[in-house]
Amino acid sequence: MIDSHSKKHYIAIIGGSISGSEAAFILAEKGYRVVVFEMNELPYGKIEDGLPNWHINLRNKQEKNIDLKLDHPNIRYVPNVRIGEDIVFDDLVKNWGFTVVILANGAWKDRTLPISDISKFENFGLIYQNSLLHWYNHKHEPNYNGIKYEIKDGTVVIGGGLASLDVMKLGMIELVQKALLNQMKIDIDLFTFEKKGILKILNENKTSLSDLKLEGMTLVYRRTAYDMPLKSPRNDTEESIQKAKEVSNKLLNKYVDNFLFKFIPLGSPIDRIEKNGKLDAIVFQKNKMEKNKIFSIEGDTFTLKTPLLISSIGSLPDRISGLPYDGTTLKMRRNDGYVVFGFSNVFAIGNAVTGRGNIQESKSHGNLMTNKIIDDHLEQEDLFEEWLVNYNENLKNLVQEQIEEINKEIESKKIMPDKVIENILNKTKSLQEKIGYTTYSEWIKLKTPIRLEDMIKN
Ligand SMILES: Cc1cc2nc3c(=O)[nH]c(=O)nc-3n(C[C@H](O)[C@H](O)[C@H](O)COP(=O)(O)OP(=O)(O)OC[C@H]3O[C@@H](n4cnc5c(N)ncnc54)[C@H](O)[C@@H]3O)c2cc1C
Repeated sequence: MIDSHSKKHYIAIIGGSISGSEAAFILAEKGYRVVVFEMNELPYGKIEDGLPNWHINLRNKQEKNIDLKLDHPNIRYVPNVRIGEDIVFDDLVKNWGFTVVILANGAWKDRTLPISDISKFENFGLIYQNSLLHWYNHKHEPNYNGIKYEIKDGTVVIGGGLASLDVMKLGMIELVQKALLNQMKIDIDLFTFEKKGILKILNENKTSLSDLKLEGMTLVYRRTAYDMPLKSPRNDTEESIQKAKEVSNKLLNKYVDNFLFKFIPLGSPIDRIEKNGKLDAIVFQKNKMEKNKIFSIEGDTFTLKTPLLISSIGSLPDRISGLPYDGTTLKMRRNDGYVVFGFSNVFAIGNAVTGRGNIQESKSHGNLMTNKIIDDHLEQEDLFEEWLVNYNENLKNLVQEQIEEINKEIESKKIMPDKVIENILNKTKSLQEKIGYTTYSEWIKLKTPIRLEDMIKN
């Protein structure tokens, strides 16, 4: 599938998950050559390490989809390479020979809780959502060697939205599952818990949270249940917005009823109380909602004692040195844009742009923006002309001895010289060889961890 496109452009994509694989596939199908750099062994991003592992069907479907896209003759997959650390971003853009770089690196940095000096408790009384979910999804693996957490009774979770409800569910299941096993010798697997809900399981076993001497967990949200972003309105009309609010409220209450956690609306964390060097309690500011806007009620606070605090207040794109940022988000040429500020050949798609979204949004954004990148940039002469101008400066170190020969080739054919393509192929091949990578399908087979559902079955 090598044609004129592939001879003119070589594209680097950072991140191989939902948006990265979508972009890579669209480009590869059009005949462009693509390298996907992925910091993990597997390219599945939040699907593997974010979605709690009871989403078996969703995970399997999405991962299969990513495999079908990335296992393409025009795509070279390079795992275990973190751009910004293993390869400096500036080097990738200027020296490797890529005409375009697309950031599809998602949002992996937890927002910091707005409480002064709270970070000193990280992993000692405070857990951020991304680390929690990584542990949760992998803790059953025999060679798991990451941080080990323990959910404590009375844990307070700060957050709102679907991910924080998953956090409540996983925490409550952990607590009740352990209590049933230790106190009543009843062993029920996670998938049964998730399907039936805690209330039903406790009823079936003629017990309750108080019988098991459990207090349960508490979710604190800064707005009300109606304001939780659990359901997107169909359109901007007042009626549709109101309907979505009703659904969000219903959904939240359904979760509370089935998984037996407490919900406290209208509280924002503002301070923490420390006792003997340990995190002891969180102080919350009371809020009120007026015309969909949130206001703090001055002087009105409440304090919750907690043995463990979990922060589930969302994620932001991880900073990569060499890229421009506007506060916490990547700085784009336009607010709704995909072109990274200060560059004409660096683009961003998926969660990497917004810091939030779901699978469908990430895929659609990847699809829409990649088609724009093709139509408005790759198929325009300007981008390649600009690359040519920079080319001498940026590439002469790599291919010094052939510089004259290459220049002639470029000038006459207006294509990327074979030497540049070879250079990319050699460099990526050596990265793959270093970790024993052979083919995409063999690598995936080798690196996919044992699944909890398979362990339970056996
Ligand atoms: C708890 C939880 C539950 C969720 N539940 C749902 C749900 O039920 N339904 C739904 O639709 N969505 C859900 N989502 C959201 C959904 O998983 C994400 O929106 C989607 O997977 C994001 O895809 P992405 O490709 O934009 O980003 P990611 O999946 O984050 O992919 C980014 C990729 O880039 C790689 N990467 C990052 N930095 C670098 C670097 N410097 N160098 C190289 N590689 C890098 C990462 O390893 C990753 O593979 C949930 C998310 C969470 C956290």
